[in-house]
Amino acid sequence: MKASDIQALLNEPACSHNHKEKSGCARPKPGATAGGCSFDGAQIALLPIADVAHIVHGPIACAGASWDNRGTRSSGPTLYRIGMTTDLSETDVVMGRGEKRLLHAIRQAVESYRPAAVFVYATCVTALIGDDMEAVCKAATDFWGVPVIPVDAAGFYGTKNLGNRLAGEAMFKYVIGTREPQPAAPRPDGLPTYDVSLIGEYNIAGEFWHVAPLFDELGLRILATLSGDGRFAEVQTMHRAQANMVVCAKALLNVARKLQDNFGTPFFEGSFYGVADTSAALRDFARLIGDDDLSHRTEMVIAREEALANAALAPWREKLAGKRALLYTGGVKSWSIVSALQDLGMTVVATGTKKSTEEDKARIRELMGDDVRMIDDGSPKGLLSAYHDLKADILIAGGRNLYTALKARIPFLDINQEREFGYAGYTGMVELARQLHLSISSPVWPAVRQPAPWADSRRALGELLSA
Ligand code: SF4
Repeated sequence: MKASDIQALLNEPACSHNHKEKSGCARPKPGATAGGCSFDGAQIALLPIADVAHIVHGPIACAGASWDNRGTRSSGPTLYRIGMTTDLSETDVVMGRGEKRLLHAIRQAVESYRPAAVFVYATCVTALIGDDMEAVCKAATDFWGVPVIPVDAAGFYGTKNLGNRLAGEAMFKYVIGTREPQPAAPRPDGLPTYDVSLIGEYNIAGEFWHVAPLFDELGLRILATLSGDGRFAEVQTMHRAQANMVVCAKALLNVARKLQDNFGTPFFEGSFYGVADTSAALRDFARLIGDDDLSHRTEMVIAREEALANAALAPWREKLAGKRALLYTGGVKSWSIVSALQDLGMTVVATGTKKSTEEDKARIRELMGDDVRMIDDGSPKGLLSAYHDLKADILIAGGRNLYTALKARIPFLDINQEREFGYAGYTGMVELARQLHLSISSPVWPAVRQPAPWADSRRALGELLSA
C-alpha cells in the first residue's frame, strides 16, 4: 500500500473531529503498535466472519499473538476459529518463497475446508519483502473459483484503529456490492420488512443475540453484520441496506460513510450498552427508515422492554447504588458504559480515554461533567493509584488488567473483547448488573485481604528465634 493511501485513510470526513489530530487517526509514533498493530486491528475486525478461511501471511508469531483473541460467537460455521498462517521462516524470505507458500496455503484452505471465501492478511515481513498479495489472490480466485481477498494492513502501517479502517477498505473494495440479497420472505403478520446492517458489531460472548429478537419483531432484517456472527455472502449484500448503524465509533466508520456516499444509505452511530442507549438505537433505525408505523411499533416495543428491564434491574440497582467504579476500557466505548453504570446508580469516578476518539471524550464530558477525570496512564501503577485515590469499589477494564486487579486484591470486571458475558441490550444490562454485584460483593475480597493464618505464628517464631 502506498503512503498516500494510508494518509488518505487517516482523513475520515465522517468524523466530526476530523479537523484536528486525534488518538484514533494520529500518525503512528514509536510504540504505537503496543496496543495492537494495524494487522491485528484488521484481523480482529474481520475474523468474526465465520465461514471465511482467514490466512495470516507472515511469520508464525503474528498469527500466534493475535489468534482467537476476540470472544466473538457464531451461530453456525466455526471455520473462523481455525488459525491459519503461511508460517514464513527466514529461509523462505531469503529464498523469495513467500508468494509460493501463500498459494499453497490458499490451496490447502480451499481444498480442506471449502470456505465461502479466503481472506489473506499481510504482515510486516510480507509487506517489507514486497510480496504481491493482490496478484496471488487474484490468480487463486480465478483458479479455484473461490473469492480470495487481500487485506493489506501490515503491522507497521500504524495503529490498530488504522487496521480496522484498512479492513473496511478491503471489504468495500472487494466484497460489498458483489451480490444481491434474496428478497425477504413475506411475514405472517403482514408487516413490511426493512433491510438494515450493523457495522462494528462483534457479537462478543454472543451478546447481540440479546437484541436480535427485537429486530425480528420490528421487521428489521439484518442484511449483514460487519462482522459479528457474519457470513461472507451477507457482507456482499450490504450495499442494499436501507439504514446502517455504526456500533463502534472508531472501527469501520469509513465503511458507513462510503455506503452513504455511493449507495445513499443513511447511518447513525449508537450503542447497545444500557437501557437508554438500546432504546435510542431502535428509535434511530425507525427514524432513518422514515416509516411512522415502524416508529409507533418501536415505541411500543421499547416501552415493554424498558418496563421488563427496569423490573429485573430493581433489586440490582438497590445493591449497586452509590458504588464507585473506575472504568478503563479499550475497545468498548467508554461513554456508553459510563451511561450504563450511571443508569445502575453507580458513580464513575474516572474513565480511561487512551483509545477514545474526540467524539467519545465529548460524550463522556456530557455525561460526567467538565471536571471528569480521564485517565491516560493505563499502567498497573497508574490504575491502582487512581483506584485508591478515588476510593473506587471496582475496576472495570480489559482482560489484560485482570492480574493487576487480582494481585492488588480488588474487585474486577472484564469489559473488553475477551469477556465471557454479553452485556448488550436490555437483558445484557441485567447481566452486567449481576456481574458487577457478584464481583463487588464476593466474599473472596475480605478473605484475601486478611493476614495469612500462618503470618502470626511465623512472626512469633521469628521473634522466638531472634530472642
Ligand atoms: S504484523 Fe508486524 S507489528 Fe503486527 S504482529 Fe506481525 S510483526 Fe508484529
